[in-house]
Amino acid sequence: MIKKYYLLSPGPTPVPENVLAAAAEPIIHHRTPEFSKIFMDTTEGLKLVFGTKEDVFILTSSGTGAMEAAVVNTLSPGDKVLTINAGKFGERWGNICKAYGVAYKEIVVEWGKDYTKEQLEAALQANPGVKAVFCQISETSTGAIFDIRGFGEVVAKTEAILVVDGISGTGATPCPMDEWNIDIMVSGCQKSFMIPPGLAYIAFSPKAWKLVETAKCPKFYFDARKAKKNLLDKTTPWTPAISLVIQQKKALDIIVGMGLEKLFAHHRILGDATRAGVKALGLELLAERPGNILTAVKTPAGIEGGKIVKTMQTKYMAYIAGAQDPMKGKFFRIAHLGYMGGFDIITALTALEMTLADLGYAFEIGAAVKAAEPILRESWS
Ligand SMILES: *Cc1c(COP(=O)(O)O)cnc(C)c1O
Repeated sequence: MIKKYYLLSPGPTPVPENVLAAAAEPIIHHRTPEFSKIFMDTTEGLKLVFGTKEDVFILTSSGTGAMEAAVVNTLSPGDKVLTINAGKFGERWGNICKAYGVAYKEIVVEWGKDYTKEQLEAALQANPGVKAVFCQISETSTGAIFDIRGFGEVVAKTEAILVVDGISGTGATPCPMDEWNIDIMVSGCQKSFMIPPGLAYIAFSPKAWKLVETAKCPKFYFDARKAKKNLLDKTTPWTPAISLVIQQKKALDIIVGMGLEKLFAHHRILGDATRAGVKALGLELLAERPGNILTAVKTPAGIEGGKIVKTMQTKYMAYIAGAQDPMKGKFFRIAHLGYMGGFDIITALTALEMTLADLGYAFEIGAAVKAAEPILRESWS
């Protein structure tokens, strides 16, 4: 059998062919009207996906760079903040705050469990004087999504800003920044934005810009004031990743052409089909409130954790993701994010079935595909 590579991970995600090909074009200079036009069109597309009339800045870094930019541009050492740690990426907010001496109080949520706006409201009352609340729309380590609209309502009543990591969620699940009172939203290009890794995106509300004026955390490369000043000249402070910006423009043409409503509906159908498929195999979801970005599935009893992911990757070359520390082996993650079609879900479920059969799990072969197919088929009609 020819071994074909299937990327089914929640980042990086598959890239459309015309977007891939754009990286092979000759490099154009970035301080030219030609590039400025592409650059500004790209920021306009990003504003649409972010649901904001504020500027969206394009940073040359992975998504974590934009998370760091959110912290250093709004806070000073010793400032009190709350971080919601419901998984690996929520934990990262705390680690960044720690690195800059920000006094973070971590709200630890069991992996896969929900955290409500009422709980956040109580936490804000118990911790007066916090300057920011950090969270994820989609916690990619668990597949859970959170009530960001509710968090926005609660945080807007306080002095604090709401900082949302939308690195896997933006463009896959609704999260309109302005309408939901989000003060900073960050994202990354290698998930729903359908291009190779290397760019991060960040936008600030007027409430967040007020904090930028007083923030004393050290910063240089990620200084938002420099980015803002340069954007007025339709450029970036440093050399942009020219090819990636051009690729992002092409991918945004697809995204904007389709429209956000249709894109969210698409992710919902893929999510529904995946959930129906794994449930038909008698498997359980990890997340109490699963998003349509990825599906985390608990390892069934009697099967050695880690073997599912390993077999799928090495034997079938279907690159799903495992669980990260400290949950390694306890579950696995199938993505339905970015440039994926209905047949990619069939591939994922078939590879999963073959793997489970190899590992001696008892189930009716074909059950997952049988459950998923009508959902996908309906969506084509
Ligand atoms: C992928 C991801 C990140 C990290 O992004 P990098 O691009 O690896 O730096 C952070 N948060 C969430 C929710 C993610 O999905």
